[in-house]
Amino acid sequence: MRALAITTALAAALAACSAGSNAAPAGEGAHGGAADSLFCADSAYARVAEQVALGPRTPGSDAARECAERIAALLDGYGADSTAIHEAEARRFDGQPLRLRNVFARFGADDGRRRILLLAHYDTRPWADMEADAARRMQPIPGANDGASGTGVLLEIARALGRHPARVGVDMLFVDGEDSGYSDAIAPAGTDESADTWCLGTQAWFGTDPYRGSTAPAYAILLDMVGGAGARFHREQFSDAAAARVVDRLWAEAAALGYGDIFVDATGGAVVDDHIYVSRAGIPAVDIIEHMHPATGSFAPVWHTHADNMDNIDPATLRAAGHTVLSLIYKEK
Ligand SMILES: [Zn+2]
Repeated sequence: MRALAITTALAAALAACSAGSNAAPAGEGAHGGAADSLFCADSAYARVAEQVALGPRTPGSDAARECAERIAALLDGYGADSTAIHEAEARRFDGQPLRLRNVFARFGADDGRRRILLLAHYDTRPWADMEADAARRMQPIPGANDGASGTGVLLEIARALGRHPARVGVDMLFVDGEDSGYSDAIAPAGTDESADTWCLGTQAWFGTDPYRGSTAPAYAILLDMVGGAGARFHREQFSDAAAARVVDRLWAEAAALGYGDIFVDATGGAVVDDHIYVSRAGIPAVDIIEHMHPATGSFAPVWHTHADNMDNIDPATLRAAGHTVLSLIYKEK
């Protein structure tokens, strides 16, 4: 059933995007135009649906391993210069050991050229903390927006870079273990309540000093919860503190491309997310994340519930995020 569903989704994506995919990328002066024809929202949507079809991608699960292997295989197929799955051990807030798998790929030779890092988490939360029905709170969520959306957009950017390389090098990091952190709703008393119980894959990755002996990225862009229907992306405070100029450029790029209603150029909240640990490692990082939903003043109502499924994913939101990031990358040199 799963394989059939994926095949059908793929066929639909190919049909929907064939015109754009066949369009010849324009010359150097028109990279924004190339990004427009190269980023296919239906293809990104299919990548999101495939992840959700695997079941919850909780750290250490078969679905998470399959997801990591699938991401690595796709990146290889898109023409990444290198792709590898890095395993790491981490400890959850309740002491449970986790085996994490981060997927890292590089587009463009490490020959001294400038580099940009793009990242997303692909793991999903093992609990539905915010579920109204208490009986279902300890069950894992589908994670269509929280996990799969950022990964799907990044994979579509990778596909574009394989066909039409950027002038800068682009590193991609798909992290595990972002979303297994502490919350009052599900954690037993006496466990570690610190913010550092989140983003375990990113912490493990930068704990290995991964850029020793190679070119470190000038900055990083994190995509998290970038597929919600009706989503708005406000400027996130840790991003502004670490990389305000990159935030300025991203939000200006979005406005120029006609996504000014989605990328709201106003200060939002402060979110504990992977970008904090990237900035801490010396790479200024920006988080594109829906976190000012009008109904909650925070994350969308589906956040950390079983309703975080494909019904809430809108290709138009995936497109706004992916097209904007790809367009900025094509302007870099
Ligand atoms: Zn989450």
